[in-house]
Amino acid sequence: MEMLRAKCLIAGDSTVGKSAITQVFHSDGTMFPKNYTMTTGVEVCQKMMSLGNKNDSVDIFIFDSAGKEVFSEICEKHWDDVGLLALVFDVTDLESLNNCKKWKQKISRHLNPEKSIPSVLIGNKADLEQRRQVTTEEGEELAGQLGMIYFECSAKQNNGVDAPFNWMAKKLASFYDDSPDKVQLLE
Ligand code: GDP
Ligand code: MG
Repeated sequence: MEMLRAKCLIAGDSTVGKSAITQVFHSDGTMFPKNYTMTTGVEVCQKMMSLGNKNDSVDIFIFDSAGKEVFSEICEKHWDDVGLLALVFDVTDLESLNNCKKWKQKISRHLNPEKSIPSVLIGNKADLEQRRQVTTEEGEELAGQLGMIYFECSAKQNNGVDAPFNWMAKKLASFYDDSPDKVQLLE
């Protein structure tokens, strides 16, 4: 039985729903934050994930960073040792999708080029179908360009929130099986 610990960075513009996703995932859907609290700096939450058919488990430490540029210097201190990456945008906000390219560039400078880092692009607020500015196809296209896998979810309705984390955990384990050196783990 192998237990892999990895830091998962969740990043994206302010108000796209990073904290909501983190808290819904962490609390198994029991907690959607009702009041908006702007995250300053970084909040960490930990969740152990068992991997279905295998005996392995992945202990994920989610680093929920602030979206506001003004805080990014504080956040960047926590961007080392990243083993999993989730970029989030709001499907009702086209600009938040475009900004994911900038987030990827900024974060990439901190990633270890010798490691394979399972990365996902998440389109959140899929419940707001009427206000959509980004189609599923457009999300998939950008994800492809950035070398990421695309997921859509609604943190508010607890719909699809687990899938990107499950995918990342499984991918990490499979990279690890190929070669332990391939992945970035937390000591
Ligand atoms: P963050 O700044 O990226 O951490 O965003 P928050 O998680 O604080 O969410 C910002 C706002 O979007 C809050 O008012 C949330 O209630 C709302 N929100 C988050 N996720 C969803 C969602 O899936 N659907 C809808 N309709 N609103 C959401
Ligand atoms: Mg937040």
